[in-house]
Amino acid sequence: MDNNHDGVVIIGAGICGLATALALHKKGIKAVVMEKSESLRNVTGAAITIRPNGWRALHQLGVADILRQTAIPIHWERIISLDGGRKKEISLTPWDGESRCLRRKDLIDTLYAALPRGTVKFDCQLESIKLDPRSNKPVLLFVNGNSIIAKLVIGCDGGKSIIADFLNLKPTKTFPLCSIRGLTNYPSGHSYGHEFTRFMKDNVLVGIIPIDENLIYWFCATSYNPGADKKAWEDPEVIRQSSLEFVREHPQEIHEMIENADAKSLSLTNLRYRAPWELLTSTFCKGTVMVAGDAMHIMGPFLAQGGSAGLEDAVVLARIMAQQGLNSPESGNKMTVQGVQEAFYRFVKERRMRVVRLSFQTYLTGMIVSASSRIKKIIYIILLILLFHNQSGHIDYDCGDL
Ligand SMILES: Cc1cc2nc3c(=O)[nH]c(=O)nc-3n(C[C@H](O)[C@H](O)[C@H](O)COP(=O)(O)OP(=O)(O)OC[C@H]3O[C@@H](n4cnc5c(N)ncnc54)[C@H](O)[C@@H]3O)c2cc1C
Repeated sequence: MDNNHDGVVIIGAGICGLATALALHKKGIKAVVMEKSESLRNVTGAAITIRPNGWRALHQLGVADILRQTAIPIHWERIISLDGGRKKEISLTPWDGESRCLRRKDLIDTLYAALPRGTVKFDCQLESIKLDPRSNKPVLLFVNGNSIIAKLVIGCDGGKSIIADFLNLKPTKTFPLCSIRGLTNYPSGHSYGHEFTRFMKDNVLVGIIPIDENLIYWFCATSYNPGADKKAWEDPEVIRQSSLEFVREHPQEIHEMIENADAKSLSLTNLRYRAPWELLTSTFCKGTVMVAGDAMHIMGPFLAQGGSAGLEDAVVLARIMAQQGLNSPESGNKMTVQGVQEAFYRFVKERRMRVVRLSFQTYLTGMIVSASSRIKKIIYIILLILLFHNQSGHIDYDCGDL
């Protein structure tokens, strides 16, 4: 049965979808979030690092103080090389500004708890979207047989976005790398202090970042491609045993960390991205339909910025929609098609170069990690230095007030 929906329809209750609903709510704009899962997807991916630009966005969303209670600040990044069988410190760099590693569960649960009850509708998997030939309004068809005629749609449905396909965005690409992630608890405390430690050995990178005094988040990035074995990789014990195999020549502390990891937290992900040069020219909105978050600009995790970029999207979009006077009809304003289109156009204009730069820096960093030839690595390093003099400039971005 068709339902006419007068407010904003957001597809996907990930970080960006929830943050967008919250930002709109704070500006008096009513939204509903349609999520395919039966409950909040708050376990996948274990944890997420939030750099200063992400904290600025969380502050605008009114949840930064709650989340600060859940994770310790990270002050340093230490890089250790294990090549040649020797442990050698390459660098110890201070991390300016506020950076913390949050359990994904804490971030997702906090955003969700800040929303009015009933904002998220679970078990609503979008199957397709088309435009009504008479009204030109977007018609959303769901796998459960329901459909909605929406006034405006924001696709926050991640890297395999149906809304992005509707907008004719090019398919996302895959880095020749996968990442295994997990959480390990140290009941008597760990020894990593307030540091992000990276161990590099051949083509295996292990990163360790504390969440609190007892819990650490770790990842292991390697050029393995699970290919047809993907199903087997849903088994945490397969992930654990294979990770141990990847790090067999790493120090004992890394073996123990993987052996003691919480099985529920273990996951393997192929790393995907939208090519930065495509972000320069892509059309991210059509009529009253648009994309945000990973659906718009999925990028590798090499700068730990994908999630924060989605938080920034939420703040910028809600601010512009309110400036355009698109507050809910209850407050006396009308959501006209022209007003929505103008808001989406302004959003894309404001966000485009930010996400192009972030994605390009992330892409070059990923290629340095994954390139097999030495010459290619050197070319990517030169490009990175030439184009991004200030390698940590990406954390200075301020998405502005909500
Ligand atoms: C290995 C790895 C490490 C990372 N580390 C960091 C980090 O440290 N810091 C950082 O900022 N970022 C990091 N990222 C990036 C970050 O995880 C993403 O940018 C972020 O999760 C994207 O959020 P999103 O809401 O846009 O998309 P998603 O998290 O993908 O959420 C999409 C939501 O839409 C739902 N959905 C999908 N299709 C449909 C449909 N058809 N109908 C209804 N619902 C649907 C999904 O179930 C999901 O809930 C990392 C990514 C990876 C892969």
